[in-house]
Amino acid sequence: MTPDQGFSFDREGPREECGVFGVYAPGHEVSRLAYFGLYALQHRGQESAGIATCEGGMITTMRDQGLVSQVFSEEKLAAMQGDMAIGHVRYSTTGGGSWENAQPIWRDDGREVALAHNGNLTNAVELWGELKEQGLKFRGTSDSEIIAALLSSHDGKMIEDAVADVMPRLRGAYSTVVMTKRAIVAFRDPHGIRPLSLGRLGDRFVVASESCAFDIIGAELMREVHPGEMVSLTERGLETRQVVKAERRASCVFEHIYFSRPDSRLEGRVLQQSRGRMGEILWREAPVEADLVISVPDSGNPAAAGFARASGLPRDDGLIKNRYVARTFIQPGQELRKHGLRLKFNPLPEIVAGQRLVVVDDSIVRGNTTRQIVGMLRAAGASEVHLRISAPPIRNPCHYGVDMSTREEMIAHNRSIEEIAAELEADSLAYLSIAGVYEAIGGDPGEHCDACFTGDYPLGDPDEADGKYALETASSGV
Ligand code: SF4
Repeated sequence: MTPDQGFSFDREGPREECGVFGVYAPGHEVSRLAYFGLYALQHRGQESAGIATCEGGMITTMRDQGLVSQVFSEEKLAAMQGDMAIGHVRYSTTGGGSWENAQPIWRDDGREVALAHNGNLTNAVELWGELKEQGLKFRGTSDSEIIAALLSSHDGKMIEDAVADVMPRLRGAYSTVVMTKRAIVAFRDPHGIRPLSLGRLGDRFVVASESCAFDIIGAELMREVHPGEMVSLTERGLETRQVVKAERRASCVFEHIYFSRPDSRLEGRVLQQSRGRMGEILWREAPVEADLVISVPDSGNPAAAGFARASGLPRDDGLIKNRYVARTFIQPGQELRKHGLRLKFNPLPEIVAGQRLVVVDDSIVRGNTTRQIVGMLRAAGASEVHLRISAPPIRNPCHYGVDMSTREEMIAHNRSIEEIAAELEADSLAYLSIAGVYEAIGGDPGEHCDACFTGDYPLGDPDEADGKYALETASSGV
């Protein structure tokens, strides 16, 4: 169901598109390590999950639609033994959400590979055309399968040679993990758009989209994979190679604001603290006369705590979230639909009635959920509702692997802050400035992407047509 129909089960915010994981650890239960690594990365994608393992030169891949806990069982994991494993959780960016597009992708065009990718290629259609001309066939319509085909069909003797040759041909965002019968190789685009970290598990090594996947399996974060770098995990241990010269760094600033888990460490900072600082700066930039600070749980919690800390205002939980509303939720039907968002958020009149509220959230995309929340809080007796958002207004789509809706669907598109406040029926509305975001993360704007806020695309203005279904459109014309 779309929010237009007046009900949304899921957070309507931008959706992260995938988490990747890889471990080379003979002697360990690698499929179980991958399972728990993916479990920690579940927030990055809930459409499908998959694991590939390699035992004695045999690659086994298992993937399906659903959450990690729905796709795998004890029996399935027990059947997947080996020295190494890779894994993937997915929310579709390029290509629809069909089973064929679930990952890890398996291909054998001369070299057997399993591959997991987070990001979005901006030259996918062009590369797909070249590969089709060479006679390669595709099962799905994801740009990840293009990377897999390029590596699988490459005649370089070692996978590392193939990766080194293919990386310069890829444009856009790619944090990728590929497994062969001998090695796991992880590589990241030269702008470092999507995250990818390297960890140590005893004397073995592991890679993952976020460091929270290391914590859960007892591994230790070493560092991020550098932009343009390839890391190879084999029997010889860890080998690294700077394949493509790092270009202007353009790490996604939204990872700091919302996507990554608050307990993950990114660019040397734990995100819970960065988000708390965003709330503190938001108070400094947009103070308001109020009685109580509440958050839109869970993602608004750290910034609400920071806002309350800086303002000296009390903070309480005025909205209670049902943590178990999954995307596969059964449709509520007509009778329940009128209760709308209450299936997800329930306001507490005993906390909010008669109060001038500051409601802190991390972002607004289309605004449907926010409008419903404001209405629910008023119905519960709040005397005023002041929205404070710990990110700037989102006015531009992402072309580097995040689903943001179209420009026209965004509530901030062609509207002033006052007009947005009126649309949301809030007494006041303020967003954190982009300078405030960089102050909070201690980061340099010249090393990040903030295009969805500023419209300044670090890789140049992309072709709007090269969107989520570009490959499907191109392939249907063949
Ligand atoms: S456009 Fe926004 S979401 Fe996309 S990479 Fe840039 S900062 Fe991240």
